[in-house]
Amino acid sequence: MSDAGQDAGGPSWRPAVLWHRDGGRLVCDLCPSACVLPADGPGACRVRRRRGGVLETATFASAVRHWQPVERKPLYHFRPGLPTLTLAAPGCTFRCDYCLNAPLSQYGRDADLPWTGAAADPAALLAAAAARGAGIALSYSEPGLAAELTLALHQAAQAQGGAVPILWKSNGYLTRAALDLLAPCLAAVNVDLKCADDASHRRLTGAPLAPVLATLEGLRGHGVWLEVSTPLIHGINDRPAAIRATARRVLALGPETPWHLVRFLPEHRLAALPPTPPALLADAVAMARDLGLRHVYVERALGDAGRRTCCPGCGAALIERGRWRLTDNRLHGDGCPACGRPLAGVWS
Ligand code: SF4
Repeated sequence: MSDAGQDAGGPSWRPAVLWHRDGGRLVCDLCPSACVLPADGPGACRVRRRRGGVLETATFASAVRHWQPVERKPLYHFRPGLPTLTLAAPGCTFRCDYCLNAPLSQYGRDADLPWTGAAADPAALLAAAAARGAGIALSYSEPGLAAELTLALHQAAQAQGGAVPILWKSNGYLTRAALDLLAPCLAAVNVDLKCADDASHRRLTGAPLAPVLATLEGLRGHGVWLEVSTPLIHGINDRPAAIRATARRVLALGPETPWHLVRFLPEHRLAALPPTPPALLADAVAMARDLGLRHVYVERALGDAGRRTCCPGCGAALIERGRWRLTDNRLHGDGCPACGRPLAGVWS
């Protein structure tokens, strides 16, 4: 893939995948917004644009390059303790009012934000990850927008024997075409499911809920290891009925789907709201377990108990975690050493 052009102080644009021509129109097929790109202009995400008769992307790049345990994504049932080389291309398809990473994710949409990405070299990134026995994780912004980088990383991983897993932390806002193209590149994904009703989802993100639900089902159908995260936000999705409704959506993916309840902290345009009380998070865990979810986790509120994996058969404590890290793994193979029951996940 060659550079298609570089803006001064800005991104290096490259040819994009996932678009089609409709007469003289050029339509993006990556996310359900289905932008018709204006002549020599960007789509709603601002990191894909039309140049002449083709679509280009700015996201063959990363503004981040650091090492984190896989628990930080969070992925708790995927190779515990795996180091990950974490990358993030600027850009997002959502405009979440509480986004922790708005200076990165809202590049191009908030006019004052500078471009902070540096061109990515997939072969070098793969070599660095392989040397540490690590995975590569795309996180912080929306990795679905980095479709071309994901494909290139996967291709490089295959060339090196397929030992480096590619992971995403995603909002799940993808078309079916994008999902079918990209899911085979991915070993595991944590998807944010903000809530279970469309009105609240639109209020929080600016986008409809249905495509996210379709992506959750689609990832599962493709055999990608799937975990789900939900921030509990005061007055939006933290009432018992709302929590139960979201838990039922996760339960529909399987009772052993890990569900991460995320403590909301005042950020960005929701800085005036209070943080989620720990007692509310504990109640939410109990509600979800009563409904049948077997692995419900809380970070930043309930201490190590919120991060512990227990055997759904005999209740033995199997995996212990500190803040965003593994501290003890008592699994025997893929099962409980006490009763032998297998635990859902990818363990080696
Ligand atoms: S990825 Fe960007 S350009 Fe493509 S449809 Fe979505 S918002 Fe529009």
